[in-house]
Amino acid sequence: MTKIIRTVKEWKQLRKSKGLVEKRIGFVPTMGALHKGHASLIKKCVSENDVSVVSIFVNPTQFNQTEDFERYPKTLEDDLKLLEKLKVDFLFFPDYEEIYKDNFRYRIFENELSKILCGAFRLGHFEGVLTVVFKLLNIIQPDRAYFGEKDYQQYKLIEGMCKAFFFDVEIIPLSTVREADGLAMSSRNILLAKEERIYAANFPRLLMSEKSTEEIEKELNSLGFKVDYITELNGRRFGAVHIGNVRLIDNVKL
Ligand code: AMP
Repeated sequence: MTKIIRTVKEWKQLRKSKGLVEKRIGFVPTMGALHKGHASLIKKCVSENDVSVVSIFVNPTQFNQTEDFERYPKTLEDDLKLLEKLKVDFLFFPDYEEIYKDNFRYRIFENELSKILCGAFRLGHFEGVLTVVFKLLNIIQPDRAYFGEKDYQQYKLIEGMCKAFFFDVEIIPLSTVREADGLAMSSRNILLAKEERIYAANFPRLLMSEKSTEEIEKELNSLGFKVDYITELNGRRFGAVHIGNVRLIDNVKL
């Protein structure tokens, strides 16, 4: 049985209790609407640790538009079934009040990597991400935490934050899980209309191609995508595009 924990106080007591204090704890933070990408992180977490914790918290401070936040998919019943199936021990499921008692007065801010790629297009996004992950790691106190390479910039920023603030946690990246046509799994994919979903596969196809970033951008534009960026950095190619009002990101190793 996956036990649901809703308050920081309850988890902190448990974490210090005899049952957990000596155990190796693995943690997977998520925003819910779980799919096979999340499942791969969770499976790894369950297999490598004595106790596994998954959190579901749709973090409002990392969304630029309230509209995007409000329509973020919520599928709690199915999520719980998956967590049970994967034998997750605890679901941490706090509400906004529990996490932001300070009303976001205190924030974690990074000054370089957070300004480029997605950071240049989603102002304040990584401030929200880093702040919530800082809080979650501080609450859960895991030995290991698992992040997807799908959000590579996010993973790197979290890894850097944990080093900078001397967190006692191992940050473990896992490779991107894709649909059969190559589209990276994402909770946002279910917001795509049927035709949009079909032509979305052009995005990973072009990102993985031999073409130059300029050629890829041009081709995506002509296919009707709105391109935020296609950029190569440190041996990876990163991209962010809009299809209608859904924003998709992806990255591949070169
Ligand atoms: P999210 O719920 O979108 O905030 O994602 C929670 C975690 O799952 C993050 O570490 C993501 O990078 C990871 N994740 C999301 N989609 C995928 C995917 N397709 N493959 C691997 N990891 C993923």
